[in-house]
Amino acid sequence: MTENRPAKPQTGRNNLDPHLDRYAARTAGMTASEIRALFAVASRPEVVSLAGGMPNLAALPLDTLSAQVGEIIAEEGLVALQYGSAHGIPALRDQICEIMALEGIKAHPDDVVVTVGSQMGLDMVTRLFCDPGDVVIAEGPSYVGALGSFSAYQANVVHVAMDEHGLVPEGLREALRQAEKAGQRVKFLYTIPNFHNPAGVTLSVERRPEIVEICREHGVLIIEDNPYGLLGFDGQTYPALRSLDPDNVVYLGSFSKTFASGLRVGWVLAPHAVREKLVLAAESATLCPPTFNQMIVSRYLATHDWKGQVKKFRENYRERRDAMLSALQQYLPPGCSWTNPDGGFYVWVTVPEGVDTKAMLPRAVTARVAYASGTGFYADGFGSRQMRLSYCYPTPERIREGVRRLAAVLESEMDLSRTFGSVKARTIPGPETPSPDTV
Ligand code: PMP
Repeated sequence: MTENRPAKPQTGRNNLDPHLDRYAARTAGMTASEIRALFAVASRPEVVSLAGGMPNLAALPLDTLSAQVGEIIAEEGLVALQYGSAHGIPALRDQICEIMALEGIKAHPDDVVVTVGSQMGLDMVTRLFCDPGDVVIAEGPSYVGALGSFSAYQANVVHVAMDEHGLVPEGLREALRQAEKAGQRVKFLYTIPNFHNPAGVTLSVERRPEIVEICREHGVLIIEDNPYGLLGFDGQTYPALRSLDPDNVVYLGSFSKTFASGLRVGWVLAPHAVREKLVLAAESATLCPPTFNQMIVSRYLATHDWKGQVKKFRENYRERRDAMLSALQQYLPPGCSWTNPDGGFYVWVTVPEGVDTKAMLPRAVTARVAYASGTGFYADGFGSRQMRLSYCYPTPERIREGVRRLAAVLESEMDLSRTFGSVKARTIPGPETPSPDTV
C-alpha cells in the first residue's frame, strides 16, 4: 500500500511555494497562529500544556450520547443525513432562544442563524461588514481566531485597553475619536464581555450600558462574542449587550464550551435587518450547517439535564482555576501579576520588564511547560511581556507542576536579563533558535 503513496510534500522556509504569485492579496496576513505552531509539541505527554484552550469534556455522559445518536439514526436517519436549511433546524433555533434568555436576551428564532461553531459566525460577520482598510476595534488583547478573520478580510485592528472591569469606556471613546479624526471607517467593536479569552476578565455590569451607548452615538455596530457566558464559577450570568440594544448588536454563541466543541455548532443572533444577508453568506460558505450535529445538540438539550451538565463543567473549571491561582501565588517570582477570572478558561499573566515571553517559549518547552505568548493576541506586536495560561484541560496536579516549571524558567530569564539586559535582544528568532517543533 504505502509504496504507491506520493512523497510527502516538502514545506518549510527553504522550500519556495510555486503558487506564491497566485495567491490573493488578502492571504498576506494569513499566518499560522503561535498557538497552532505550538500544538504539536505541547501535546507531548511530558509537556504540561497551559497553552491551548481545549474544553475538558471528561464529564460528558458518553453512554447517554451514544444511545441518543443511535436513536437519531434509527428514527430520523434520512433527515439527519440530508442537507438542511442554511438557517439551521427550527427546533434548535427555538432552544437557542431559550438559552439566550438566561442572559436577558429576547429573540425570535427567525433571527438566529446556526453556524459551524462561532468561528464561522466571526468569519461571516467580518465578510459582511469589512472592506479592506476598514477599522475594527477590539479589546487588547483579543481572541486569536477573531484577529485571524479580521486579517483575512484586510481589516485594521485598533486595540482598546481593559482593566479588571473589562473594556475601558474612556479608551473606547478615545479610539473612536482618533479614528474619526483620521477619517477612518470604524465598522464594529468586537468584544468578549464575559470571562475574556485571553484576559480572563469580565465587563462590569455598570459599564455595559455605557459601552452600548458609546457605540450607538458613534454609529458603530457591536459584535458580542460570548462562548463562555454560562461558565461563571458561581453560576452567575451577566446581561448580554444584545439585551441592551437589540438593533445594534450581533451576538455570537456556541455549544463548544457548554457541550461539545467537536460537533462544531454555534450561532449568530443578528438584528432582523442583517439576518437575510447572514443566511446568504452562510449558504455560500457551507450550504447548510451539519443537520446531524444540530439534531444531536437539539436532542441532548431536550432530553438531558444540560444545565446540570454545565454546572459539572463549571465545577471542574473552578477547581482548576483555584489550582492555577494558588500555584501562581506560591511559585511565580516577584514582579509578576495576573488576572483573577471568575469564569471561563484563562489567566493573563504579565512578567517583569526584560523578559520576552515569545523568546522564552522554546526554553519553557524544553523545561516541559507550554503557554501562549502574549503577542499572538494583539494585531500590533504588543504583548511581549504577557502570556496566556489556560487551566481548562490539565488536572489540578499537572497545573501546579506546570506553574512550578514555568516559575523556574522565569527566574532564570530574569537572572539573565539582570546580567545581560533585555532577553529579547539576545534571542532574535533565526535558524539557530530551536523552533517549538524541534525541542
Ligand atoms: N470566540 C472565542 C472568544 C473563543 O474563545 C472561541 C474558541 N476558543 C471561539 C470564538 C470559537 O469557538 P467555536 O468556533 O468552537 O464555537
